Amino acid sequence: MVTKPLPRIDAVNAPFFAACNEERVLIQRCAAPECRRYVYYPRVCCPVCQSGDLDWVEVSGRGRIKTFTVVHRPHHDGFLSETPYVFAAVEIEEGPLIYGRIDADPARPPAIGDAVVPVFLQHTPEQKLLAFRAEDVR
Ligand SMILES: [Zn+2]
Repeated sequence: MVTKPLPRIDAVNAPFFAACNEERVLIQRCAAPECRRYVYYPRVCCPVCQSGDLDWVEVSGRGRIKTFTVVHRPHHDGFLSETPYVFAAVEIEEGPLIYGRIDADPARPPAIGDAVVPVFLQHTPEQKLLAFRAEDVR
């Protein structure tokens, strides 16, 4: 059996993955007063102004689907048993794009522009990962 690949957790991205396990969405925000942009994925400096002063802030994780695909042939055999599944780029309310799974029936996929909320999938016994589902699904 092929196991799923694990995220490479390091000193830069550890707060994001720790927050996933607490079912919270934590992203960086530039602390430079003239910038204050939200930053995702985790980095050592702001991609806009290059300030190294980034704060971790909790956000709602709510957003809209910018684009998506239904995956039939995954990039890694560890996901083969889960196909087909929906994978999307979600533009969260604070601006950054976050790529992740959409908890949806792949036979009835979402639409571009649909509102989504965060959900947390148990990737391994030790690590949950951020994913999304349609806002109006209960
Ligand atoms: Zn900045």
